[in-house]
Amino acid sequence: MDIEYLSLKRVTAMHGDEIHRAVTEVVDSGRYLQGERVAAFEREFAAYTGRKYCVTTGNGLDALTVMIRAYKEQGLLADGDEVIVPANTFIATILSITANRLTPVLVEPRITDFQIDDELIEQAVTPRTKAVMIVHLYGYDALTDKIISICRERDLLLLEDCAQAHGLTRVAPRRSMNVPGAQAYSFYPGKNLGALADAGAITTDDERLADAARAIANYGSSEKYVFRYRGRNTRMDELSAAVLSVKLKYLDAENRRRQQLAEQYIKGINNPEITLPPPSGVHHIFPVLCPDRDELGSYLAAHGIQTLIHYPIPPHKQACYPELHHLRLPVTERIHREELSLPLNQAMTDEEVNYIITTLNGYKR
Ligand SMILES: *Cc1c(COP(=O)(O)O)cnc(C)c1O
Repeated sequence: MDIEYLSLKRVTAMHGDEIHRAVTEVVDSGRYLQGERVAAFEREFAAYTGRKYCVTTGNGLDALTVMIRAYKEQGLLADGDEVIVPANTFIATILSITANRLTPVLVEPRITDFQIDDELIEQAVTPRTKAVMIVHLYGYDALTDKIISICRERDLLLLEDCAQAHGLTRVAPRRSMNVPGAQAYSFYPGKNLGALADAGAITTDDERLADAARAIANYGSSEKYVFRYRGRNTRMDELSAAVLSVKLKYLDAENRRRQQLAEQYIKGINNPEITLPPPSGVHHIFPVLCPDRDELGSYLAAHGIQTLIHYPIPPHKQACYPELHHLRLPVTERIHREELSLPLNQAMTDEEVNYIITTLNGYKR
């Protein structure tokens, strides 16, 4: 058997006819930006996530960056403010903070579910701390009651990087929060809800934040040729919106399929070398830990199974952040050393997952 980590061709083909029709309609309509399909997707995605507002952007990094910028424009964040963030995230989370001239304060994750360790947040708070940015990494829920109460007591914004967590609010319903904040999504093709190009969105219940974000993403303008902010141009196009509206209808069912496959892995894998991830979430990624991760990856590759590493180098070791190189973050470093992502997506068959399980169980150092 030959198993690709993720075949986007198969994922798209699951709804191929509908997607082709939606794309053709946009092509023939003559309207490619700022039209009714983007407006419709924003309504649908706000309703889906249970938020009042959705503002689409050109990609997920821009959704994060514009979300923070919109808080700056309202005076709720300022240059030099600190944002508490998990150390083991994708670089985009950190880039969105530093691009806004704020300071990321990296906090270690729990090894059990890879999410920011809420027991370590309070000791990272300083008088400059203005926000906590959680990342629902791999599709697991990072939000805890403790995080909510820290944000409430200390008056911190609660920002969420939901780029790997589409549909998480349906699996793990949000607590009534009463903490100001917003969520950023990416619709990069490989995400649980992916477009056929780059795309992103911000969701929030805060009307002023949504208005500011919408203007910032559109040159700083909410009225044609009138510029309130020094904005940028980062908008979702009509083609992406049309495709996403088709795919959004199937997201819950596809996340349920991911859940089934994750359960199949967890039930089937019994190799003592391999540590399994937690059972619930939306399973954007199925991360296992193995002390000899690289050998395991080569062994699987030799058996036709493609795996990936999320991620080989943590942000604090990256060349672009020399000011973070001094940090010692052993849990994060262990994850980056031992993590291996097994193929898991809605287009996979039970047979493929069973083959991967059998192959994994046959692995010896
Ligand atoms: C994918 C991703 C992003 C960035 O999204 P893009 O659309 O690729 O810019 C941000 N954060 C996390 C955790 C991601 O996985």
